[in-house]
Amino acid sequence: MAAKTQIALAGNPNSGKTTLFNHLTGSRQHVGNYPGVTVEKKEGVYSGQNEKVHIVDLPGTYSLTAYSVEEVVARDFLVTEKPQAVINIADAANLERNLYLSCQLLELGIPTVLALNMIDAARDRGITIDAGRLEELLGLPVVPIIARTGFGTVELMERAIEVARTSRAWQPVSISYGDDLDNLLIEMERLIETTAFLTDTYPPRWTAIKYIESDQQIIAKGQACNPELAAELSAKVTVVADHLRQTMDTYPEAVIADHRYGYIKSILRQGVLRQQFDSARLFASDRIDMVVTNRFLGPLIMVAVLLGLYHLTFTYGKPLQDGLNTVFGWLGGRVDQLLPAGHLKSLLVSGIIAGVGGILSFVPLIMLMFTGIAVLEDSGYLARVAFMMDRIFRIFGLHGSSVMAYIISGGIAGGCAVPGVMATRTLRSPKERMATLLTAPLMNCGAKLPVLALLTGTFFTQNKAPFLFMLTLLAWVVALLMARLLRSTVLRGASTPFVMELPPYRLPTFKGLAIHTWEKTWQYIRKAGTVILAISILLWAAMTFPGLPADTEARFDRQRQAIAQTYPEGTPQFNQELGALTAARNQLALENSLAGRLGLGLEPLSQMAGFDWRTNIALVGGFAAKEVIISTLGTAYSLGEVDPEASASLSQALAADPAWNPVKAMAVIVFIMFYAPCLVTVACIIREAGSWKWGFFSMAFNTGFAFAMAVTIFQVGTALGLAG
Ligand code: GDP
Ligand code: MG
Repeated sequence: MAAKTQIALAGNPNSGKTTLFNHLTGSRQHVGNYPGVTVEKKEGVYSGQNEKVHIVDLPGTYSLTAYSVEEVVARDFLVTEKPQAVINIADAANLERNLYLSCQLLELGIPTVLALNMIDAARDRGITIDAGRLEELLGLPVVPIIARTGFGTVELMERAIEVARTSRAWQPVSISYGDDLDNLLIEMERLIETTAFLTDTYPPRWTAIKYIESDQQIIAKGQACNPELAAELSAKVTVVADHLRQTMDTYPEAVIADHRYGYIKSILRQGVLRQQFDSARLFASDRIDMVVTNRFLGPLIMVAVLLGLYHLTFTYGKPLQDGLNTVFGWLGGRVDQLLPAGHLKSLLVSGIIAGVGGILSFVPLIMLMFTGIAVLEDSGYLARVAFMMDRIFRIFGLHGSSVMAYIISGGIAGGCAVPGVMATRTLRSPKERMATLLTAPLMNCGAKLPVLALLTGTFFTQNKAPFLFMLTLLAWVVALLMARLLRSTVLRGASTPFVMELPPYRLPTFKGLAIHTWEKTWQYIRKAGTVILAISILLWAAMTFPGLPADTEARFDRQRQAIAQTYPEGTPQFNQELGALTAARNQLALENSLAGRLGLGLEPLSQMAGFDWRTNIALVGGFAAKEVIISTLGTAYSLGEVDPEASASLSQALAADPAWNPVKAMAVIVFIMFYAPCLVTVACIIREAGSWKWGFFSMAFNTGFAFAMAVTIFQVGTALGLAG
């Protein structure tokens, strides 16, 4: 006989565990106590066709948290005795509630078989369950049984023994708990893994979840094992718990429970559970979902909601932005008047005020977008969007959960590829995860958005909102096609069934919206004040030095004197001549600068896409951070400006420049959307993908692709005579 096979029975109270146990073991039972507690421990032997299996009946529990003695006993048995398999018995008539425990077994990763008990009673209540579909979605064997009659129990034991025999390693499933907790979990998991904290007993993510659930037993064990790390983990949880209380008026355990039920709901909804219902009994959330995720109405509602978001943002954001632009223009003018000519003035006016001001003027627009997104996210609607998009995403070899990574990266409006790339950690299949993290940076993140908005506002004034919406769609189409391409070439492989969480709808609180919006906006402003400021100054220096050779400067001086001698100072001719001369001088100085030489050096190539050397400078700066594109263009144009008094905004400067036209604008827009991700994102891709190769791949591949698109647009557009 082979080594002893041990299988545990786990399930909610009244799920029929005892009935099944008695049926399987007959009279071969032994009743004792679990050590140290008064909880009864029943053991027995099942005789199969050619083997005997040891079966342990665990106490009935709704959960595996240390809220009751039964729960502690049940999970201690699982993690210390490590039975080869668990039969999770669930009451099919109350499947939603029963699967809550199953969720936790999945998260623990122990090999499990799900026994759908009482299907007779369920059928009487008009409930039918597609066990095959459930099996596919949960990724574990599902067997319908009637414990009272023994129906299905032979198959159940066959499959349980098969699972036990396979003796694979535990495979914990990751359920997403929303942005706040997911990020926390990722951090905690890393700490737990690197210090091997309790890892011989529990999977790292499981320990982290228990800390978030303030599970006293795990916290005590952690304290004994590594007090320092235990304190650090608790401190991290406290921070996020406070944040949840402030923003959502909730606490971690509630968020976790919500998401587990969301996970279950979405499984049951994908063709698993059918019920002849009586609509009065449906919960409000489900009633809303019947409309909002309806196959036909759902997508229409989604498009309307997203279009509405753009419309609102532009209607109310644009005037505010213009106001801020005026303020910075005035400030630049004042500084210009007050300071004597020289490098300091040039640095302040052209480098700092133009650069940082250009970014800050987008704050109102971005705040409005973020508010809109926060409403969608906090209300639970965003999860529905992802749910609906799943059908489409499968076609492209991705997961429904990829949608979240896309949205976080800027798939709706604004966002950032850095958290987007990190959000792919919840994806189960490595191939789909790689495809998602390589394509998420193609979304229009919050840093690209201002550039796109600027160019749209300047060259496509008629239909700003629909045009930007179209750019968003374009990002999705390109990302999906790219994913499809990757999944059929370098990332070939089968797809895995997918499960998405559908948390219940809730009314966003004003405070929560305010905090979420402010957090994201502040991130943007802080970046403008630090990284962007530093890059602005560096680029200003690159655009200013080495300056013109002395003899050239002397020549301009002589010409200036000649003008002063020809025309009386202050007359229109004097101003015009002097202005033209200054422009010519500044232009020459910029061309001669470090950045100018680089921009010019690239011109022979970039002209294919219509990019002149000033645009090149800005795009090269954008490799560091996309925000820099605007500030660099601002610097390039204000340095070249004829009359600083007029201090026209960048948009006016571009509109007035004959080198720009709608075709070039479109080529630049497309290039910016798809070229290399910013440096921080690349670093993140390297870390997440675990190799330098993918970081370089995404830089080279994206830039090559973007350039090809830009060249095509420019050449075709020009040939069609659209360049005007
Ligand atoms: P436990 O609390 O999980 O041990 O559940 P029990 O085994 O005590 O069963 C709870 C109740 O469900 C009992 O009244 C059983 O007779 C009943 N029951 C168990 N299995 C079935 C089944 O397959 N169909 C029906 N209709 N009832 C069942
Ligand atoms: Mg019982």
